Amino acid sequence: MSVPLPTNPDIVIVGAGSSGLSAAKKLEELGTSYLVIEASDHIGGRAYTKSDIFGQPVDHGCSWISGSDDNIFSDLGRKNNFTLVDHSNPKIEMFERDGAKSTQANINEYNKSESKIKEILRDTGRQGIDIPASKVIPNVPYNECFQNWEGALNYAVDINQISTAEYWHLKDTQPSFIVKEGLGNLVATLNNNFPIALNTNVFEIDLSGKGVKVVTSKGSIVAKACICTVSVGVLKSEKIKFTPKLCNKVQRAIDDIQMGLLVKIPLLFDGIRLGFAENSFVQYDIAKENIGSECYFLAWPTGHDYVVGFIGGQFAWDLSKLGEEEIVEYALSKLEILSGDKIRKHFLKGFATDWASNPFTKGSYSAVKPGCFGAREVLSEPIAEKLIFAGEATAGNIAGLVNGAYESGKLAATRITNIVKPKIKSP
Ligand SMILES: Cc1cc2nc3c(=O)[nH]c(=O)nc-3n(C[C@H](O)[C@H](O)[C@H](O)COP(=O)(O)OP(=O)(O)OC[C@H]3O[C@@H](n4cnc5c(N)ncnc54)[C@H](O)[C@@H]3O)c2cc1C
Repeated sequence: MSVPLPTNPDIVIVGAGSSGLSAAKKLEELGTSYLVIEASDHIGGRAYTKSDIFGQPVDHGCSWISGSDDNIFSDLGRKNNFTLVDHSNPKIEMFERDGAKSTQANINEYNKSESKIKEILRDTGRQGIDIPASKVIPNVPYNECFQNWEGALNYAVDINQISTAEYWHLKDTQPSFIVKEGLGNLVATLNNNFPIALNTNVFEIDLSGKGVKVVTSKGSIVAKACICTVSVGVLKSEKIKFTPKLCNKVQRAIDDIQMGLLVKIPLLFDGIRLGFAENSFVQYDIAKENIGSECYFLAWPTGHDYVVGFIGGQFAWDLSKLGEEEIVEYALSKLEILSGDKIRKHFLKGFATDWASNPFTKGSYSAVKPGCFGAREVLSEPIAEKLIFAGEATAGNIAGLVNGAYESGKLAATRITNIVKPKIKSP
């Protein structure tokens, strides 16, 4: 699949994730020549399905097609005969603080609290108030459980790092699908024999001369313009040098967008179902001091024989430093509290996704810092008529999502083509 570096394409696309592949697709349609450069050995980036560990497909990155009635991947999935499983109203397997299984009345109470808190958060943002979400959480039953889900496990940052303005701005993620064969595998179908140079690391994007010089581990390429789709985690790490330096406004936008961390901990069992329904969320009520540091689960997604534990935010960054074995043991011990020690007998193997240490992502997905709403828009503007950032962090009200990445790549390809190949006006 990997191709040698050509000389002088119109556009260099850095990154072959959802955004880079969609930019390539759009440039094909527009007849603009391009090359995609990808540092890792595979396409898809954070959309990544692997089957070799469990013998069943597991999405290491994205797995939900969110807002599925207006999401390119719903159509693409149907077209390519993927199995899309509706996950809009999943069953909740809930436990109380004393370990007892919650009654339906408790679950109804949780749902009521969730709706109320969401309404307050959105209302705050709608009024133009951009403060940490934690500041407006009412003291309703199960609010701690909600904060754990919505902060660490949904936004991938702790609840005090979520901007109320962004919370209001982002589109609803329901209805949704999960993909039996893997969303990463579905995203990979975007690649229609595109010219992609794999295992090729970009070190520098130099705008100082005519066009753009992209310096890579396999040599330099000169193009008219560059679409850079790497994550904000990578941009923050300064592994790619920009010449001249990015202006203060753009650099500030990068500083104002955090790279969150969500770690998945898939645990394979021997076919036992532990009393949890397929595709259900397993969660438990927690004390205030544990918000952000609890592991909730998705049970037997689309009928596979594994549950997926989730940890996120600062707790996930900290736990990741201890290594995969510790993380798997932590998740197992949490599941054991809910299901009893029989789980050990039926447990086959588990692993933790490596988004914390992955040098090509440096985290999972982005979240705007409280008080910094507007940073995504700044980051998505073309620079010097020859560089444009794309990717999930630039995706407006569908930021953080794989379809947001797709739409941002498509838009960047159109905008940059309009700049480098303006239509000749007829006299
Ligand atoms: C654990 C997890 C769960 C998620 N869950 C969901 C979900 O359920 N639904 C959803 O919609 N989204 C979800 N997401 C988010 C979604 O996966 C991302 O928003 C999307 O895949 C990002 O695509 P992208 O093209 O912007 O970036 P990427 O996929 O990161 O693509 C950028 C590419 O650039 C490459 N690169 C980096 N540095 C260099 C360099 N120096 N030189 C060359 N190439 C480089 C990378 O290897 C990568 O392939 C999740 C993400 C994670 C990590």
